[in-house]
Amino acid sequence: MTVSEPSQAPNVVEDWFDLESDRLHEECGVFGVFGHPEAAALTALGLHALQHRGQEAAGIVSYDNKRFHAEKRLGLVGDHFSDAEVIRRLPGRAAIGHNRYSTTGETILRNVQPLFAELDAGGLAVAHNGNLTNALTLRRELVKAGAICQSTSDTEVILHLIAQSRRPRIMDRFVNALREIEGAYALVALSTKKMIGARDPLGIRPLILGELDGCYILTSETCALDIIGAKYIRDVDNGEVVVITDEGVQSLRPFPPQRMQPCIFEFVYFARPDSVVQGQSVYEVRKRMGIELARESAPEADVIVPIPDSGVPSALGFSRECGVPFELGIIRNHYVGRTFIQPTQGVRELGVRMKHSANRSQIEGKRIVLVDDSLVRGTTSRKIVKMMRDAGAKEVHFRLACPPILYSDYYGIDTPEREKLLAATHSLEQMRELIGADSLAFLSVEGLYRAMGYEGRDDLRPQFADHCFTGDYPTPLTDRTGEHPRQLSLIAEAS
Ligand code: AMP
Repeated sequence: MTVSEPSQAPNVVEDWFDLESDRLHEECGVFGVFGHPEAAALTALGLHALQHRGQEAAGIVSYDNKRFHAEKRLGLVGDHFSDAEVIRRLPGRAAIGHNRYSTTGETILRNVQPLFAELDAGGLAVAHNGNLTNALTLRRELVKAGAICQSTSDTEVILHLIAQSRRPRIMDRFVNALREIEGAYALVALSTKKMIGARDPLGIRPLILGELDGCYILTSETCALDIIGAKYIRDVDNGEVVVITDEGVQSLRPFPPQRMQPCIFEFVYFARPDSVVQGQSVYEVRKRMGIELARESAPEADVIVPIPDSGVPSALGFSRECGVPFELGIIRNHYVGRTFIQPTQGVRELGVRMKHSANRSQIEGKRIVLVDDSLVRGTTSRKIVKMMRDAGAKEVHFRLACPPILYSDYYGIDTPEREKLLAATHSLEQMRELIGADSLAFLSVEGLYRAMGYEGRDDLRPQFADHCFTGDYPTPLTDRTGEHPRQLSLIAEAS
């Protein structure tokens, strides 16, 4: 394996090797191509389309029938992987890639995926989107049993589980490892002969199968197929493992069948609006969220203003439903990353100001309704309401196209601990006051389900993983509750 990691020193390294750290973040995008002469270049393009899923780092591993090659970089895909020289160092007809979205203290190349291990059966690279809810518990057991951990990521736990399995075949090892892990995962792995895709038993995180020039592609979202002109084949099912070889695609279903529970936050915020998730256009769903929100809480107003970019589709729906004009009262500077991932509150606040400016001509003297997709800590909303008032707005009403986020997510959406979630610690009136708006309203959980097309299907709720709003966590939270449901069976398993 050749690994090329530039001598880019990580700027924040404190705590990076805290094995007991209670949050192992892997909020990411994954992509893979098997059997194509331009595998690495296509993977770079795929990762570029998935950039919204992770901006801190990116990596690609390719295999050229002799060796694995890896290129990993901190920063944006386009800043590094548009360089022909970097792509040239990734030869072969198979490649997988990963965009990393992490938080303070973990911006370090060692954590950048895909992770690679040399197993006795040959090399294996793994890229993971999602968060395991028993990774710390497993890691402690693995370390006790002699494993040496190099990173703080869940993915390394998966690699260790695969490595320690005594099964002779890589697929059996892979499936055994999946049986040990809990939580959310969309995995893309590359061995010397196969590309493997796996989705957790509830399908919390998305994974899509596509095709280009007769070659198979795995991706977190359909927008990455569009960028390379690939065809959508289907969503990988919950609990399904797809094995792609020169012979084609084989599907394994190692878990008992369960009802799917994909993450509702993909529709609210995470996925790109031009993606199709679970057969639904994210853009259309977001517009319908705006329509439902307007039905529930449209105030008297002169103009509907989206908070760009995330609030645009729902603001369009809101405006259409209440018949009040939609105007771009806020202009976004596109050369600044998403505010949420700035590592400290101080920098985050600065980030918000760098990112948005008031378009005074559309604001001054008007009663405005600001529409955003979600409210987390309240940083964005507070700044923007003030900005609107400074620009001369007569009234500022704030509307959120999702319900209050009352519970933390542990499956790969980077929400903070509960005490930092504004809605978990404040009443509606307290939030309104803090944000400084004339009125504040959120979409109801029922309204959200109506927008998703599940009206009158209460018998099926939760149809999605909606724990952020309801506290109804779809899997055990072993690392948090300290429960220890079973001993690690892999090490003891009969070969
Ligand atoms: P906050 O400013 O902390 O209230 O965060 C709300 C803003 O962050 C909204 O504009 C959302 O579009 C965006 N947002 C919501 N959830 C996330 C997330 N998991 N990661 C990054 N940004 C988010």
